[in-house]
Amino acid sequence: MAAIRFSNVFKRYASGQDALLGVDFELASGEMAFLTGHSGAGKSTLLKLIMLMERPSRGQVWVGQQDLSSLHRSQIPYLRRQIGVVFQNHQLLFDRSVFENVALPLQISGYDPADAARRARAALDKVGLLTREKHNPVTLSTGEQQRVGIARAIVHKPKLLLADEPTGNLDPQLSEDIMRLFGQFNSIGTTVLIASHDLSLINRMRHRMLTLKHGRLVADG
Ligand code: ADP
Ligand code: ADP
Repeated sequence: MAAIRFSNVFKRYASGQDALLGVDFELASGEMAFLTGHSGAGKSTLLKLIMLMERPSRGQVWVGQQDLSSLHRSQIPYLRRQIGVVFQNHQLLFDRSVFENVALPLQISGYDPADAARRARAALDKVGLLTREKHNPVTLSTGEQQRVGIARAIVHKPKLLLADEPTGNLDPQLSEDIMRLFGQFNSIGTTVLIASHDLSLINRMRHRMLTLKHGRLVADG
C-alpha cells in the first residue's frame, strides 16, 4: 500500500512562482526515502502539501487511503495527528522543560495526563534523553535539541514521519546519529521522508532518493 502518492502535482504560489511541476511518485508504507535538490527546488513545498499546509494548484496528493483534495477542513487535525514533523530549527519552547515540550502534542490531543507522561518518557527514552527530561532545552546542545524535536514528532506514534533539513545545523557525526535515529523508527514500520541537501550523508545511507530540480522530479532511485 502507498503511504504517500503524488499524481501530476503542480504548485504555483499566489506570487506566480512555480514550485512544483507535474510531480509523480509513490512512497510505499514502511519505506524510507530522501528528498533532495538545490535550494528552491521545491522540497519544502512538497512536504507542506503532505501536511496540508499548502494545497496543490493541480493534481492529487494521497496520504494512505485519503485523497487530500476531498479532505474537509475539519479533518485536517486528524490528518496531522498521523504525521510527525521534524524541522531544522526544531521549534522547541524554551519556557518549558524537555518533558513538557514532548508531552505537549499529547496534551493538546486530549490524552489522559498519566498516559501522556508515560508516552512522553518512552519517546525521550527512544532518543536517549530520558535523563534530561527536567532540563530546559536551552541548556542542551544543538544535537540534543534536535533529538527532543524528534521525540516530540514521534510521541503520538505517527505512521508517517517527515523531516525538513533535520541536520542543517549539525556537524557530520551528529547528522549521522540523527539519520540513524530515523532509520530506527523506519525499522519498526514508520514511513519516513527526509528533505535534505546533504548529498554526502544521503549517499552513505543507501536509501531511495527522490531528486527535485526547479520543481520537477528528475531522478528517483
Ligand atoms: P526548497 O525547500 O527546495 O528550498 P521551496 O519549496 O521552499 O524549495 O521553494 C520552491 C520555490 O517556491 C522557490 O522558488 C521559492 O522561492 C518558492 N516559494 C516557496 N514558498 C513560497 C511562498 N509562500 N510564496 C511564494 N513563493 C514561494
Ligand atoms: P503504547 O504502550 O502506548 O502503545 P509504546 O510503549 O509502544 O506505547 O511506545 C511508546 C513510545 O514509543 C511512543 O509514544 C512513541 O514515541 C514510540 N513509538 C513506539 N512505536 C512507534 C512507531 N511505530 N513509530 C514511532 N514511534 C513509536
